[in-house]
Amino acid sequence: MNFFASWVFRCPKWIYFKLKYPDLERIDPKVKKAGNLGEKIALNFLKERYRLYPTRKRKLHFDSFNITGKPDFRVLGKNRFEIVEVKRVSNITRIPKKRWIAQLNLYLEMEGLKNGFILEISKNKIRKSKWKFNQLLFERSIEFYEGVYNIIKKGEIPPGRVGECFNCSYKELCRELCFSHR
Ligand code: SF4
Repeated sequence: MNFFASWVFRCPKWIYFKLKYPDLERIDPKVKKAGNLGEKIALNFLKERYRLYPTRKRKLHFDSFNITGKPDFRVLGKNRFEIVEVKRVSNITRIPKKRWIAQLNLYLEMEGLKNGFILEISKNKIRKSKWKFNQLLFERSIEFYEGVYNIIKKGEIPPGRVGECFNCSYKELCRELCFSHR
């Protein structure tokens, strides 16, 4: 089974749908457009401050599953490479979401690097937050994937997570499934 680094700590049911029904995903074009614009803004921000290097798709191998990922950017500044994860946000909250930090952490492991940062891009602000590789967070992330894997392996649908449904790309399918099980 192949998971993606960007799925870490996401709704387990959403992960199930991504694996089983990739063609039924419905991504809001506005969200896609905003994401692409965020990457463009990030590119300009980074070009002025760092040397940019290409990123590659990488895999972490475990007994029963793999985790694949490709960071948004790899940059060189002050004689060290860093990984950059870009997030387009409507509002910049007090701290970045834990799952974004965990995603960056997985990329750091994949790249064998210790330092990275998250660039959150809102309408009128860019926030850069620096993060170091965190072994405990890495272990928790792998436990998360293991948990999802074990449920799916048994042929069951993992539980959904309230709070992520509003912008979910599988909300229609999820709703249908929920009604058909009543
Ligand atoms: S609608 Fe909610 S519960 Fe269903 S897959 Fe999406 S996030 Fe998970």
